[in-house]
Amino acid sequence: MATVQEDGAARLIDGAAIARGVRARLADEVAALRAEHGVTPGLSVVLVGDDPASAVYVRNKEKQSVEAGMRGETIRLPATTTQEELLAVVDRLNADDRVHGILVQMPLPKQIDPNAVLRRIRPEKDVDGFHPVNVGKLLIGESDGFAPCTPAGVMVLLEEAGVPLRGAEVVVIGRSNIVGKPMAALMVQAGVDATVTVCHSRTRDLAAHTRRADVLIAAIGRGRFVTADMIKPGAVVIDVGMNRIDDPTTKSGTRLVGDVDFDGAREVAAAITPVPGGVGPMTIAMLLANTVRAARQLAGVR
Ligand code: NAP
Repeated sequence: MATVQEDGAARLIDGAAIARGVRARLADEVAALRAEHGVTPGLSVVLVGDDPASAVYVRNKEKQSVEAGMRGETIRLPATTTQEELLAVVDRLNADDRVHGILVQMPLPKQIDPNAVLRRIRPEKDVDGFHPVNVGKLLIGESDGFAPCTPAGVMVLLEEAGVPLRGAEVVVIGRSNIVGKPMAALMVQAGVDATVTVCHSRTRDLAAHTRRADVLIAAIGRGRFVTADMIKPGAVVIDVGMNRIDDPTTKSGTRLVGDVDFDGAREVAAAITPVPGGVGPMTIAMLLANTVRAARQLAGVR
């Protein structure tokens, strides 16, 4: 079940359950690829330095790829790594036939130019979808490229929740290269057929835009920024935000909240993603999906 109906409140779009389903289907596909074609999809994640949040993400990426039957490895490099040293690691992974997906975890230490690194990854192995070739393919609508994992995950959430997009008014708040822009590019494709508005910090009268949205997607990075009065009754609300706020009632003293004021929004919306347990779990699931497709494409398996 993708959603849970509760009395008088919005349906919850259960990203954790949907992501589990995606991973289970991928595990079957990986097993078949190995049995029938001798191909084991391999994902290599490169972590430079010791940022604690990055370390958690990277651990989960390796764990979930191994659980899906894939080859998952993490290459850990010291914070003092030079750009040349990191590019040499990327070159080695580009040339390694066992590696189908390469991800360099951001942020990188300041002596390294992230764009130089992203451009060095072979586009065929760029499962994060940040190489300009893949960004271009996404815009053109070529299906052999890779879309960034978070917006790709939002598309799967909406599909599994049965949200109609053809002709729908979709409003995206945020225009980052990681979420907002690729989200809009996916929505506007022929076949999806949404009408898209992209808002940002310079947008005049933000609420006038958001109140028109049949589907409102918040990717802002400001805790509980979107309030109930900004949402059209009956809209579907997708909350991409992950913001840590102080909360003395929890053991850690902090709590994760989205960009949407969840309690208010769920009284107005028809369906909403929670934080955590909404968009978050989909991101790694889509990374695995991209890696399996990269393996197929590199091995010439249809
Ligand atoms: P970002 O690069 O900081 O972009 C934020 C965007 O929000 C910018 O385009 C910014 O506009 C816009 N914005 C900021 N304040 C605004 C305001 N007052 N009104 C309207 N727009 C405003 O962030 P991001 O990387 O896209 O991430 C957004 C959120 O999603 C963060 O909370 C992040 O942690 C989360 N996230 C979650 C996942 C996941 O897996 N669930 C993945 C990635 C990101 P300007 O361009 O004008 O500055």
